[in-house]
Amino acid sequence: MNKSRKPVQRNFSTTTDDRPLTLPQSKSRRHVMATAPCKSGDGDTLAPLLILSAGACSVGRSGVQLGNASMSLPRRQWVRGRRQLFQSLTEGCACHWAFEFVSFGSANVSHQRVARQRMKSRVLISIAVLCITGLTAVVELQAADTAWRAAAAATVITPEQPMWMAGYAARDKPSEGKVQDLFVKVLAIEDAAGQRVVIVTSDLIGIPRALRESVAASVTERHGIPPQSLLLNASHTHCGPELRADRAPISGESGDRVRQAEDYLRSLEQKILSTIATALDQLAPAKLEYCHARCGFAMNRRLPQDGTYQNSPNPEGPVDHAVPVLVVPNAAGELQSLLFGYACHNTTLGFFQFCGDYAGYAQEFLEADHPGITAFFLMGCGGDQNPYPRSKLELAQQHGRTLANSVEAALQTPPRPLTGALRSAMQTVTLDFATPPSREELLQQKVSDNQYERRHAEVLLAELDSTGSIRAQYDYPVQALRFGDDLLMVALAGEVVVDYSLKLKESLDAPIVWIAGYSNDVFGYVPSLRVLREGGYEAGGAFMYSRFPGPFADSVEERILKTVDATVAEVFNERAAGFTPAGGR
Ligand SMILES: [Zn+2]
Repeated sequence: MNKSRKPVQRNFSTTTDDRPLTLPQSKSRRHVMATAPCKSGDGDTLAPLLILSAGACSVGRSGVQLGNASMSLPRRQWVRGRRQLFQSLTEGCACHWAFEFVSFGSANVSHQRVARQRMKSRVLISIAVLCITGLTAVVELQAADTAWRAAAAATVITPEQPMWMAGYAARDKPSEGKVQDLFVKVLAIEDAAGQRVVIVTSDLIGIPRALRESVAASVTERHGIPPQSLLLNASHTHCGPELRADRAPISGESGDRVRQAEDYLRSLEQKILSTIATALDQLAPAKLEYCHARCGFAMNRRLPQDGTYQNSPNPEGPVDHAVPVLVVPNAAGELQSLLFGYACHNTTLGFFQFCGDYAGYAQEFLEADHPGITAFFLMGCGGDQNPYPRSKLELAQQHGRTLANSVEAALQTPPRPLTGALRSAMQTVTLDFATPPSREELLQQKVSDNQYERRHAEVLLAELDSTGSIRAQYDYPVQALRFGDDLLMVALAGEVVVDYSLKLKESLDAPIVWIAGYSNDVFGYVPSLRVLREGGYEAGGAFMYSRFPGPFADSVEERILKTVDATVAEVFNERAAGFTPAGGR
């Protein structure tokens, strides 16, 4: 029995024979059935797992993944059995287990020494189980695999005129051309029942809340797609246009800058809506698959120094190097779209030319290497992560190539077909800010030597004068999307630090968990309790450049995680999610 904790792919050992069983690597449709009668430690026998596979199996973080689905068991039973099987394979748990593969059709199990008699009896038993619980599942599985429809569309959003750029408060002049176009891209996906999800990615600093709300209202009105099924994500490139009109006065610019941002935002909204309409018009039969790899250029950027945290590379700090990839082939199996994620600021560059930074180059390289496809970058929880080294165009291109290569590496692993339904949910949680500064403190800050402190004090004093108080709370949106039975995507608002993705990938009970940040409302940094208590830029210092009063209260992390749990529960509870067949049309 293999007791190694190392990831195992396609090779399993049994308690009765220590030689590995190897499943075929072909991507063609092959149905492999595995039965795994497991007993828990107290002797309670679990029902046999019946797993209908697309031909590949692997041991993942949260369990043994055998192809794409267990169609015949309630989810709780499936999760329990799978977890037990995983423990058996990786930790040598005390429970008795047996594990056999039986091939059907053209599939071959290359275990030459499996006794013929034993195989026969297993086939008979397995066929009996199949007849009882799984025959219809085979039919459903085959149908579900091609039951998706998907389409991609993209529109250039590079400003046509020079305009002020986002990302660095110290910028002192408008843009000077481009080295690369910026895009808004739309991936539309529809399940067999007509439920649809629209994912919008963008080479932008962020998604203003007002933009998200306006686009969501139009998408509901025009296409009947509810707001919870619309995800807007920004790559957070620091070489994009400043589209946040409310940032302009903080940086001490003229009204022209505000008007520029408002004009750009109006045109951007129309481009997003037309790109969504184009994608929805082009929905065509497709498959969904998942794979993943790793990529290493992101490093934690919070370095403890002189009693605080400096923005410098910290090789000891937490990182999330995962590169999750959603692969969308058409019905014939030809690649159409790649959606990939990474948790790292797009801050290799800080010059005055428009550019998507490493994420822009990763998408560009993938689209060049796979002519005709659309590559999408989905920003992860990279609030405290920077690409290193930085500051040269060549480095942004190198990081882009590195990330594109990671996606290519993921594509060389056995794809995991996704089957089942689309589900989506969205909840809002109210976050408290810490106690804001008093008027006296603000008056002192107003004469600070630091120009940003002075302007922040002026903004808060103006708010105090006009409303009688300073904002004390923020309504924070949390979104959950479920792609079939296996892939759960959580989209968090704001510049979320990496602790959130690391914690949620451990705590959420789903076969595949993908955490996106910078989604739906990118208003500022979202620290974990750890980062909040450590202090520094991401803990609240960055609010100096915004209209927000200052750091969040200590409850920030707990409230967000609880809301994620509640939102995720919705997508696993169809009645709570309020879906009816074809209700998304
Ligand atoms: Zn940032």
